[in-house]
Amino acid sequence: MKFSKMFIPTTKEMPKDATLPSHQYLVRAGFINQVGAGIYNFMPLGKIVLEKIRNIVKSELDEAGCNEVQLGFVTPIELWEQSGRASKMGLEMLRIKDRKNGEFVLSPTNEEAMVELVKNRVTSYKDLPINLYQINTKFRDEGRPRFGLLRGREFLMKDGYSFHENEEDMIREFHLMEETYKKIFTKLGLDFRVVEADSGAIGGTGSKEFHVLANSGEDTIVVCKSCEYGANIEAASRQPKEVKGKKEKTKEKVLTPDVTSIEDVAKFLDVEASQTIKAVIKKAVYEETQKVVVFFVRGDDELEETKATNAVNALELIDASEDDIKDAGLVAGYVGVFDLPKEVVFVIDNELQNEDNLICGSNEENYHLTGVDLKELENAKYDDLVAVQAGDKCKCCGGELIHTKGIEVGHIFQLGTKYSAAMNANFLDRNGKAKPFVMGTYGIGVSRLIAAVIEQHHDEKGMLWTKETAPFMVDIIVSNAKNSDELSFAEKLYNGLSKYKIDTILDDRVDARYGFKMGDFELIGFPYGVIIGKKLSDGIVEIVDRKTNTKTEVKKEDVVSKLLELID
Ligand code: ATP
Ligand code: MG
Repeated sequence: MKFSKMFIPTTKEMPKDATLPSHQYLVRAGFINQVGAGIYNFMPLGKIVLEKIRNIVKSELDEAGCNEVQLGFVTPIELWEQSGRASKMGLEMLRIKDRKNGEFVLSPTNEEAMVELVKNRVTSYKDLPINLYQINTKFRDEGRPRFGLLRGREFLMKDGYSFHENEEDMIREFHLMEETYKKIFTKLGLDFRVVEADSGAIGGTGSKEFHVLANSGEDTIVVCKSCEYGANIEAASRQPKEVKGKKEKTKEKVLTPDVTSIEDVAKFLDVEASQTIKAVIKKAVYEETQKVVVFFVRGDDELEETKATNAVNALELIDASEDDIKDAGLVAGYVGVFDLPKEVVFVIDNELQNEDNLICGSNEENYHLTGVDLKELENAKYDDLVAVQAGDKCKCCGGELIHTKGIEVGHIFQLGTKYSAAMNANFLDRNGKAKPFVMGTYGIGVSRLIAAVIEQHHDEKGMLWTKETAPFMVDIIVSNAKNSDELSFAEKLYNGLSKYKIDTILDDRVDARYGFKMGDFELIGFPYGVIIGKKLSDGIVEIVDRKTNTKTEVKKEDVVSKLLELID
């Protein structure tokens, strides 16, 4: 491809809202442009990279026996009503009406549509298993679209769905998909980690996420320094914390005027924060109502919001206002586990179960309780509520857990029969009995991957594409395109590289100076450049390695073989 024939509108201008390198460089290098909040056009270079990633995803999935299909992007609301999700999806799902007042949805995901496709077409266990996927546009009306392609509203996702006669077979496929995803992300040249995950609104039991490790990642990942354990903080667990240095306190109500924070309580009563119980008051949002809920964790622990949301089965948790707290009959700063108002739902962290000699609020202004024994508390609900902290111990090996940041690029779920049962999608099993399909579901953020590659591979000059994702592997930079010797050698080289199927772009622009061409080479981040300049008359050209920024002089007849060596 010739640079002069391509639409590559590079610019020095920085997009106003772009804080991350991937966002800045992809816009500046003319890969994408923003149309509206979270909506992007892909220009030629962006489109080439998108296709490369799509092809890798497709070839590995096809190899694993999956079938590509393409579903309609617009789905009728009836499908979402059948599964019960119409009322659960919240504001992320964009609904539209047609001229006949029929209601439709811009698909944020496609479980329902895929179940509908298979229903009554796959009717017997003999037709199972089957794994269908598409690589298609999704729309989610994200509250905060940002970071360019990392969190768009319109984006490209690979979504796959598998159908099985039983759980065992679904789990087999789940493992196959895990291995397939690892191959895909390895091929893309990414440093990634597979971690345990929360299943979120999609539902189901086991789930794993694939994270590209990058400081800019929105997710916090907990990993063990000594073993393979890794989990999203939303799902991470640890060895129960050992509490040391507890002081013996009698069971009594003590006056603690104006002592409301954990820090102050611990200081006032001369104990470690770990001997106290912290109350976190939230408002749980449900389909029809909202109510104040209280979570109790150890004083030196923090509440993990996703775990807490799941513990009370809420759609989300929001902050409770002072009025909310008062109206619920709670005394801020003095909330404790005994004698809470009857209507207030509360959950206590698992690690506090059966523990005694604790300190908590008394539910009465200015008083705390000491010597609290949780065994005396009847009908309490316990659940895992805490955010694993750096330095906690791994439950698998006792090693040290640390925090790192990740960009979620894939998520696989063991879904079960949630959607097939709700939508009456059955098959006849080996005994002739009708049963709902057991399903798995598997997503990859295809457009997000473009940005993830760059978050992990860039420098202060621009992008550094990996070999499998580079729009072109080699950029032949003709220093002076008016010089016919330079241009004709460049063309010869271009044809030579084409024979070896090396994607090459020829920067033959007559109006652009050498420095400008080099600037584009660095910003765009082609892995290799060949500079054809004055030394050509001595039979010498230069090969530039974009990543290491090294230039090597090479005899002109050796360029192809040298590049082949480097690319291998
Ligand atoms: P996130 O937690 O980042 O919002 P999610 O859990 O909502 O992701 P899934 O529903 O599992 O995501 O979707 C599958 C994949 O689609 C994700 O792993 C991610 O790579 C990608 N994805 C999700 N939301 C977006 C978005 N707004 N923009 C770009 N890609 C996205
Ligand atoms: Mg999301």
